[in-house]
Amino acid sequence: MSPDDVRTRRRVEIYDTTLRDGSQLEGISLTVDDKLRIAEQLDWLGVHFVEGGWPGANPKDDEFFQRAPSELRLETSTLVAFGSTRRAHGKVDVDETLNHLVKANTSAVCIVGKCWDYHVTEALRTTLDEGVAMVGDSVEFLHAAGLRVLFDAEHFFDGYKHNAEYSLRVLEAAATAGAETLVLCDTNGGTLPHEVEQIVTEVVRYFDTDGLGVGVHLHDDSGTGVANALAGVRAGATQVQGTINGYGERTGNCNLTAIIPNLSLKMDIATIPTDRMERLTPVSHHIAELVNIGLNPQAAYVGHSAFAHKAGLHTSAIARRKDAYEHVDPEVVGNGTRFVVSELAGRSTLELKAKELGLALDGAAITGVLDTLKELEHRGYHFEAADGSLELLLRRATGWEQDFFQLESFRVITEERGERAFLTEATIKLLVGDERLIATAEGNGPVNALDAALRRAIGQRHPALSKIHLTDYKVRVLDTSKGTGAVTRVLIDSSDGERSWSTIGVSDNIIEASWQALSDSVVYGLLHNES
Ligand SMILES: [Zn+2]
Repeated sequence: MSPDDVRTRRRVEIYDTTLRDGSQLEGISLTVDDKLRIAEQLDWLGVHFVEGGWPGANPKDDEFFQRAPSELRLETSTLVAFGSTRRAHGKVDVDETLNHLVKANTSAVCIVGKCWDYHVTEALRTTLDEGVAMVGDSVEFLHAAGLRVLFDAEHFFDGYKHNAEYSLRVLEAAATAGAETLVLCDTNGGTLPHEVEQIVTEVVRYFDTDGLGVGVHLHDDSGTGVANALAGVRAGATQVQGTINGYGERTGNCNLTAIIPNLSLKMDIATIPTDRMERLTPVSHHIAELVNIGLNPQAAYVGHSAFAHKAGLHTSAIARRKDAYEHVDPEVVGNGTRFVVSELAGRSTLELKAKELGLALDGAAITGVLDTLKELEHRGYHFEAADGSLELLLRRATGWEQDFFQLESFRVITEERGERAFLTEATIKLLVGDERLIATAEGNGPVNALDAALRRAIGQRHPALSKIHLTDYKVRVLDTSKGTGAVTRVLIDSSDGERSWSTIGVSDNIIEASWQALSDSVVYGLLHNES
């Protein structure tokens, strides 16, 4: 790319609303510290605007805006406070919401106002003229206070379809009063891409003034949040609002982790700085951890499976010519190609996996692993979902044996003490070299107690163990027709704060299956933290 291309490259601002819209998702409850950490991540990623919340709406958001100036060192992002227009027939200078915005300590604010005539007459129960005045007065007041003002045009697309003239009048009032960007919102999320493209085209044409931005704020209710944003940008929008991982009320918002690479890698539009595109996957995963919701493995670009190949026959071709099988280079967005190994896998998949792990396995060893894999999968193992256990299996095929501990025996007792009080206790006997170690620990269940006993037994020798923790524990009954006598499969997800891995155990005894997965988890964790 020549310097000229860089200069002429079209630019779209990325406006993140994870801290406000994103926190509307069921199950998300952010502390002020969480919000500060997320804002740091967004700044590190390089979005233009970070909307912090609604000052005055709740004590958390108040505290966030109080602490932000001293605790957040934003280098790339502008922090924005969100609010709404003045009340109907109210005065701007005594309006609480507007005054909270002025006192929020940000250089930019975004206010939402009604653009659908039906909402003005039915929800606000006021006249259309007053609806327009509420927007104009409020923008003017904030602008006069020295703030950059963005205007979120609520229900814009629905309003435009019903009464375009009124919706445009509202936008005009905001623009005249000094709003720098008019953000068209699809608040109910029902609009489709071709409608977004047509309506944004008309709005951009109507406001053909230099320096006035047109943004789009789209929800995913029709499953087209990202597609709608692409359509909006094609039609001339200069700003896209959305959230990391698409978090948001109902079905979520336009997903920034998809729209950013779509715009930059495929439409050659400048969004976040090019050299930060590789931060997309780490930021997506980090924020998923902060909001405590497992990231959808199938998420475009950033999901664990986004570049996972389970092709069997084609695997060697994929390894040779990755670009023939991947829509973008996964490294560019900070993700990576993965070869998924299962009983369906051919030799070449296993060979690739061994190479990925830096293990030297000859032809006979590979055949041995393939046979073992088929046998184990027949018994109910599922190595696709257990990359940690698979790696240990491959290592064992090289003759490696873990020397962290050898199990001699364990015993788990669960006692019901009446009043639904349970006590679970595990005793574990291990050999470490020539030494015999015995430890007992209590837990809130058998797996927890076993985990605690294992840690008590070897924790002092292996300080790295303190970094390793279980993040998920899943049990699946494989042969449901046998009821409680059936074979169970246990999957454990673990993390050391930097990497995460999954391990597996299968047995007709759930505690035995749990132990297999647990000991694989610990061995894998120590292997990667103590070398
Ligand atoms: Zn929204």
